[in-house]
Amino acid sequence: MKRSIKLLASAGLIALASSSAFAAADDKLRAAAEQAQPAVIESLHDMVLIESGSSDVEGLKKMADYTEARLKALGAKTERRKTAKGAGADMVIGAFEGTGSKKLMLIAHMDTVYEHGILDTQPYKVDGNRIYGPGIADDKGGIAVILHSLKILNDVGWRDYAKLTVSFNPDEEVGSIGSGEIISELADQHDVVLSCEPTVAPPVAKNESLLLGASGTATGTIDVKGKASHAGAAPQLGRNALLELAHQLLQTQDVAKSIPGTQLNWTTAKAGTVRNQIPDHASAGADIRLTIPDGLQKLQAALDEKVKNRLIPDTEVSVTVTAGRPPFVADDRGRALARQGQAIYAELDRKLDIAEMTGGATDAGYAARSGKAVVVESFGLAGWGYHARDEYIDTNSIVPRLYLMTRLLMELGNAK
Ligand SMILES: [Zn+2]
Repeated sequence: MKRSIKLLASAGLIALASSSAFAAADDKLRAAAEQAQPAVIESLHDMVLIESGSSDVEGLKKMADYTEARLKALGAKTERRKTAKGAGADMVIGAFEGTGSKKLMLIAHMDTVYEHGILDTQPYKVDGNRIYGPGIADDKGGIAVILHSLKILNDVGWRDYAKLTVSFNPDEEVGSIGSGEIISELADQHDVVLSCEPTVAPPVAKNESLLLGASGTATGTIDVKGKASHAGAAPQLGRNALLELAHQLLQTQDVAKSIPGTQLNWTTAKAGTVRNQIPDHASAGADIRLTIPDGLQKLQAALDEKVKNRLIPDTEVSVTVTAGRPPFVADDRGRALARQGQAIYAELDRKLDIAEMTGGATDAGYAARSGKAVVVESFGLAGWGYHARDEYIDTNSIVPRLYLMTRLLMELGNAK
């Protein structure tokens, strides 16, 4: 079936094979995507040579200058937004105004996980269909997809949106501590957010994919107050906070197991200052992962219930969980959008998988937090080795990814 459509297409008869009004635009977009490939590679080269680790304020400023200039050249009104916390680098926000009705947003991040000087040991390098470089997949490839898709759409005169916003943040790899709230707020003003983190390249993955879920992070703290006393002369007058903490850690260690979609592990602890005193204070910290939106509330309630049971009378125990990056859980609208993406890939005779969940966190969680916008992740280039060594992108993904983004934006803008 696919083969016969391909033959028809190559014979210029695709209009007969498809009732879609986009059939003519398809060929145009595909040709434009093919033509854009060398320019995409040039942009990747430019960006990889700008080292931009999350704490590299100078490098991040260069990335902001570069991306802002590119957005301006495409006709965007641009803005630099100081991030509230973290290294203090700027976000770049570009705004386009169109003539349609939909509000669309594209996000990617400018920072990488690498220390300054990484290019000395892991330089930009082309090897067949792989291009290596720190941050080239995560997430400079995502920035390149956005910039070059918008260039293609600009060239065909597409303005079928009410507004189109681009957000590039400088702190994704450190939890988006300064930009996350801004991303949430911006996303809520849009109908759709396409997040452009990389997708895993074949053959590491079977096929390229779009992603519908990512775990969120949180921290847990437990505090125990006891009563100090001489450990040798009058231990019976003290209330040992360390022993009570040990009791609480043991009885709460499996608390998350009864709440599917949550995970809690106690990882740090502190108690006592000197050997000869019954400690009056002890505390511990937990790493928490969440894949359900209300996981934090459920964990808090379960912990509160557990800690009521005390080993040592007269001790006080308090436990708190604090939200970090919210989990990303796409809804049915997100799933429908991902299927739309699959149909677009099928036009190129390529298979696109839908990935349900990853352990890595993403800004899609901030964008989807309120549930207002439809959010789907992984519109960046295909690659591998990110957060590791020898990070690369697969150049075979450039054309399909540009085609997917441009074609999908046109469909979304046109949707009733
Ligand atoms: Zn990333």
